[in-house]
Amino acid sequence: AAKRAGGSCHVLFEPHMGSDASAQLELQNDLRHALERGEMSLHYQPKIDGQDGQVCGVEALLRWSHPQHGMVSPAVFIALAERFGLIVQLGNWVIEEACRQMAEWKHSGIVIRVAINISAHQLRDNSLVTRIEQALARHGVPASQLLCEITETVAMEDMQATQRTFDGLARIGVFLSIDDFGSGYSSLNYLRQLPARQLKIDRSFVHDLEFSEDARSVVNAVVKLAHALNLGVVAEGVETAGQRDILLEMQCDELQGYFFARPMPADALLAWSLGEQGKSLLDNVPPVGLL
Ligand code: C2E
Ligand code: MG
Ligand code: MG
Ligand code: MG
Repeated sequence: AAKRAGGSCHVLFEPHMGSDASAQLELQNDLRHALERGEMSLHYQPKIDGQDGQVCGVEALLRWSHPQHGMVSPAVFIALAERFGLIVQLGNWVIEEACRQMAEWKHSGIVIRVAINISAHQLRDNSLVTRIEQALARHGVPASQLLCEITETVAMEDMQATQRTFDGLARIGVFLSIDDFGSGYSSLNYLRQLPARQLKIDRSFVHDLEFSEDARSVVNAVVKLAHALNLGVVAEGVETAGQRDILLEMQCDELQGYFFARPMPADALLAWSLGEQGKSLLDNVPPVGLL
């Protein structure tokens, strides 16, 4: 009974619906054709600078608009794509589309750093660095405008592949971020050697900030660790003014979450940012209508 999702960001197909075997098989088949049928798109979620409250970048998040199920959650289809060998193809499309979008924004006078998410398979793909380099060159986008997010779990899984790919991406000038930090197990000695620029604190810690002393201690420690290692720190999943205030007090460099803006299509992002222009999002977000 899912309506056609169109440009809406509502996820109508939830993870639990992907658990039944025949539904999975059907989804997997549909996923194989999703790209050629033009069902994939990128939504963009702003990241806010903790110093001046301005938008300092966006994270590109893959969206699948299924003809029957509506928007399928990435939690469902990314896992499927990983399992059935479709993730590299999808990931390549994300690289191409993000670069194309940066070039389009540039033509409208907007230069913004875009983060893309890199999967485990892509990290092990020897052609990733060249592919990214070529996509950037083809669209005339400087490498420093692209940021690649790799989750802590994936980065620690195959340290050799991580080191190789991180070194290659850093060499061409792409920025690197360790995503969902705190949810896995990092070797700090190893983390120190990676040419990453930032740590992204996992949403679960941000979620508990207001009611858990432990969560506050962990986030505070991660911010200090990041700064000691000369890394920037980003908090994801910021949903309330209270969380924002705690994170700013802890000197978190960037904030991202529904409190500021949801992920949205490129044209909506443009309209949104024009509406916010000149404002500091840290001061001017009204303290009402919180989740
Ligand atoms: P992620 O990279 O950690 O992305 C952040 C997720 O948190 C996104 O979920 C975003 O919509 C959501 N989020 C942002 N702010 C808030 C908030 O305030 N509250 C809550 N509850 N959630 C918030 P999304 O878009 O469903 O993506 C889930 C995951 O799927 C991503 O987690 C990422 O690991 C993966 N993913 C998404 N797009 C891609 C892609 O292009 N390639 C790969 N390999 N993975 C992707
Ligand atoms: Mg991410
Ligand atoms: Mg994340
Ligand atoms: Mg996350």
